[in-house]
Amino acid sequence: MHSRLVFHDGSCAVCKAEGELIRISEFGKALCAECFPGFVQRRVESLMRRRLMYERGDTIGIALSGGKDSAALAHIMDALHARLRISIIGLHANMGLGEFSDISEQAATRLCDHLGIELHVTRVADEGVRIEPVGQFRQCSVCGAVRRALLNRLTARLDVQVLATGHTLDDILQFMLKGILSGRLEAPRPMLEPASHRPRKIKPLYFTPEAATDLYVDLLDVPYTDSVCPEFDPAGHRFKEIFKLLEAKAPMATIQFAHTMLKAMKPAEAEEMQRTCAICGEPTNATYCPICRLRRAQEAH
Ligand SMILES: [Zn+2]
Ligand SMILES: [Zn+2]
Repeated sequence: MHSRLVFHDGSCAVCKAEGELIRISEFGKALCAECFPGFVQRRVESLMRRRLMYERGDTIGIALSGGKDSAALAHIMDALHARLRISIIGLHANMGLGEFSDISEQAATRLCDHLGIELHVTRVADEGVRIEPVGQFRQCSVCGAVRRALLNRLTARLDVQVLATGHTLDDILQFMLKGILSGRLEAPRPMLEPASHRPRKIKPLYFTPEAATDLYVDLLDVPYTDSVCPEFDPAGHRFKEIFKLLEAKAPMATIQFAHTMLKAMKPAEAEEMQRTCAICGEPTNATYCPICRLRRAQEAH
């Protein structure tokens, strides 16, 4: 039995069935296993409508890591696409990190086969570089910057109007707390309007906790991998525990925290690029784009 599936005195908030119910404290409701997936889908749909995340006829590219959050997102958007009148395709960036990257690409492929959607893959290796630390940038920040650049370029090539990522409530909360602790009052938005250098960016799981995506992929047998990047640093994720504790002490407090901080904080500026790369002409915040910066550093050795 799944840890979140508990016997509960009440009845399903949707169908009123009694017995074994799922309680996700962030939702403030108990649901039966049949009603749970539809409930999660409707929450995501409602955020997408309220935040004007799409227009009818849009093609939405979903950034698939191979992991469970983006797998849940793809499954949810696939369930919603007819009603929202959008098309969806999968996008995957293979970061060339050995076996981990192979397993991740295979998981994204299995997921797209399962859903019957197209998958487009872009590879770091095709750029003639490999991910490693450069100057003061650590490996994970180089990887993140290169991945964003590769996905932006892929959406431009494919004429995809919207790029959706699987960031969950847990990711957003952690970002907000790190910002507060370092005096940086900025937060990612659920939706970023398109700019000349990139498509509209959306985070449909902004208010969906990982507890819900975990259960969603398990209940519906959605393919994903839980293999972990060799560079994964648990210390970077330690703040997630703090919010688990807060949620346990004060149910629904974490969602309220995210709503309040979203109002109080400025948009995160990392994705707004004002310049173009002196070598390749792609958008960047610096003299060179992340890919050319890496190539220059590696050619110098
Ligand atoms: Zn029910
Ligand atoms: Zn460049």
